Amino acid sequence: MTVSPTQTTVPAVRLSGVGKSFGSTHAVRDVTLDIRPNEFFSILGPSGCGKTTLMRMITGFEEPTEGAIELGGVPAGGVPAHKRDLNMLFQSYALFPHLSVHDNVAFELKVRKSHPKQAIAEAVRDALALVRLEGYGDRAISQLSGGQRQRVAIARALIGRPSLLLLDEPLGALDKKLRAEMQLELKKIQREVGVTFVTVTHDQEEALTMSDRIAVMHDGRVVQVGTPEDIYERPATRFVAEFIGTSNFLTGKSDGAVLTVDGLGTVPLPADAFTGEAHLAVRPEHVRISSGDPAPPPERASLPATLQSVVYLGSATRYHLALADGGPFIAETHGTGPAGLTAGGPVLAHWDPQASRLLAE
Ligand code: ATP
Repeated sequence: MTVSPTQTTVPAVRLSGVGKSFGSTHAVRDVTLDIRPNEFFSILGPSGCGKTTLMRMITGFEEPTEGAIELGGVPAGGVPAHKRDLNMLFQSYALFPHLSVHDNVAFELKVRKSHPKQAIAEAVRDALALVRLEGYGDRAISQLSGGQRQRVAIARALIGRPSLLLLDEPLGALDKKLRAEMQLELKKIQREVGVTFVTVTHDQEEALTMSDRIAVMHDGRVVQVGTPEDIYERPATRFVAEFIGTSNFLTGKSDGAVLTVDGLGTVPLPADAFTGEAHLAVRPEHVRISSGDPAPPPERASLPATLQSVVYLGSATRYHLALADGGPFIAETHGTGPAGLTAGGPVLAHWDPQASRLLAE
């Protein structure tokens, strides 16, 4: 029998009921979660949700006011940042501009005085190879592009092979195209070195691209932890469905089979629907629109709407609709959508109820 490594290994980070207050501000509230060894884990949330504070408690820059943190199975309480088996990478990189690439990367090993000169040279060569900067050792930092500086910072952070690397908005300083490249690169590097990466970001796409799992934060709390697919396809709350991607919402009363919405009538619900007041989340890419003739198959949920505008996005087309109660609804199709629909005209929006999700809050 094979046993999943996650069942037998000690978590890289264990947070148990962790909270942090600054006076009357509860920056982080009651966070309980495990980060697994060798995982690429992201803490994702909007500005002010508490993600930096949570990360600073893991690093040891802040002590929790409630709860406890373990790193590799060892209680971290009272252990100062420099004694924790971890390293950090900041958006600003904090490279030494007057030192060469080699000396920046070697810095930590030199300070530690733990390695002979030859071993440092080898470690630097390996670290630069890891970030695909072989042969750049003698360059000055000022002779590097933004992406190359980012790579030097990664090499420097990993040279001492920490168990854990914490990255605070690591790609925030790069332009959009370079960012997309570095997201894949960072994930590849993480796989190669086998170090647990914990990144803090407010960028949903970045978190979805890089992470094995994501913790979504809202108002100091972790509201959902899951794989990118879990978070996108099965959001736990309306906040998550809105923050990650785009979602339509219908609010009404569920009897477990249909949702009754004031002014709109009823729509069928997914198989696992609960009863009571609820929001139905429907992703735009699951919504199709038609003129209503022929009628969509009866197993599909459908609502009459007015087509307000059509936005051509290149690889997709987005349709902005107004429902009978005036509420907005969005449909998105790959490529160009159905022909013959005119703005201002009546349409039918329809979707597979199993692709929608009923949320209590
Ligand atoms: P951002 O993405 O803008 O950096 P964040 O999600 O990282 O935001 P935090 O920086 O953790 O959020 O802040 C969470 C809350 O705690 C905010 O209301 C912030 O003002 C407050 N806060 C953070 N640090 C302190 C501090 N040292 N003293 C007082 N309040 C603080």
